[in-house]
Amino acid sequence: MSKFTIINPTTEKPVKDIELADLAATDLVIAKAEKAFHTWRKVNPGDRARLLRSFAAIVDSHIEELAQLEVLNSGHTIGNARWEAGNVRDVLNYYSAAPERLFGKQIPVPNGIDITFKEPLGVIGIIVPWNFPMPIAGWGFGPALAAGNTVVLKPAEITPMTAIRLGELAIMAGIPEGVFNIIPGKGSLVGERFVTNPLVRKIVFTGSTTVGKGIMRGCADQVKRLTLELGGKSANIIFADSDIQKAAANAPGAVFDNAGQDCCARSRLLVQRSVFDKFMAEFETAVKKFRVEDPALESAEMGPLVSATQLARVQEYLPPGTPIAFQGTKPEGPGYWFAPTVLLPKDASDRAYREEIFGPVVSVLPFEDEADAIRIANDSEYGLSGSIWSRDIGRAIRVSRAVEAGNLSVNSNSSVRYWTPFGGYKQSGLGRELGPDALDAFTEVKNVFFDTQE
Ligand code: NAD
Repeated sequence: MSKFTIINPTTEKPVKDIELADLAATDLVIAKAEKAFHTWRKVNPGDRARLLRSFAAIVDSHIEELAQLEVLNSGHTIGNARWEAGNVRDVLNYYSAAPERLFGKQIPVPNGIDITFKEPLGVIGIIVPWNFPMPIAGWGFGPALAAGNTVVLKPAEITPMTAIRLGELAIMAGIPEGVFNIIPGKGSLVGERFVTNPLVRKIVFTGSTTVGKGIMRGCADQVKRLTLELGGKSANIIFADSDIQKAAANAPGAVFDNAGQDCCARSRLLVQRSVFDKFMAEFETAVKKFRVEDPALESAEMGPLVSATQLARVQEYLPPGTPIAFQGTKPEGPGYWFAPTVLLPKDASDRAYREEIFGPVVSVLPFEDEADAIRIANDSEYGLSGSIWSRDIGRAIRVSRAVEAGNLSVNSNSSVRYWTPFGGYKQSGLGRELGPDALDAFTEVKNVFFDTQE
């Protein structure tokens, strides 16, 4: 076992040491989860549902504690962190309805009866990034547990505190030992072991596209099931016929929320040329008003970046001579602060425009017409999210059908609703989470034919 010291990104002070699992400890927990699977899958659907509702209730009564932990560990604003803990509760409640509704089909066939069953897979390995430690964990373990699987979950090295607490809350709620296991550790060790240990039957990975590709290659060896939620470089498309004031007032939140460390961040802002100057004037006012401050303050709209490493990565995208249009404010003193930054790239080949920065930086480009907007939006290897602002309903429908991305919003910048599917096109991912169909990602369809002939 080795140790990792958690640093508070707002103060740069150490918070606590976390023990990191080694290979032997990882294998032990995986074996425990595999053993628990054989009893958990047989728990009556009604009882499994009750246990998940009880888990949701315990999370609900610990929202403030979980939220404060996330402020401390990740520098999330307290408002966001409360929403994130609430999202775990909501996802558990939503999927608590699933065990009693995990329907198969009865299919008409000659000479007998044909029935399909949705069977759990076994141990599910969930690998979580540091940007949204609670919700991303919950999108995996909620439906996985509901479908009768057991879970081993590896939080990111630097943000394990809420996941560890959720593991304790599950036990308090009556979820049996071994069913939901948190294993803090290194990606290259614990995460890789999830891929190579044959007792783990599926990987749910959220993180960078580079690591995701490696995991996909690794899963091929055992034809291991896999869901990938990867990077993004989403477009916020502002048409001249939109409510410019509303679109501009909302554009900072669309990219600077969570300090831009959001796979759905609208980090490419495409503005129709005829309203470019008008929009930019309104946008500048909104960016300068965006409150970057101690994330524990109720008024905070953005906190620091998660780590010194992430701050250095973001800074690399702004070498001297970078065409900065304007910047917001940031506090002085300790903390991994980076002011909201708006760039005017010379064209779409600019590195900051093309690559996922994962920080509070947005690049703005003008476009001429609808076809031009669609062409520019789709000129990316990613396809996760995006927004379309227009008062013309026909245009909004045409453009939202044409943009190659998994989660779009019209006249809104929200991407995540637990009732609806979430996932990426192209190199933004593989498969979908959330919504009514997520259970399909945690079950195998088994077909059984009963011969009824005499
Ligand atoms: P990362 O890929 O470095 O790490 C993600 C997780 O994978 C961590 O838990 C890490 O320990 C683990 N890991 C690292 N190397 C591994 C390996 N070789 N084998 C197995 N596991 C390994 O990503 P990050 O920097 O933590 O997160 C930021 C990235 O996550 C961004 O690219 C962002 O776009 C993406 N992301 C995507 C979504 C989505 O839903 N599409 C959501 C959030 C974040």
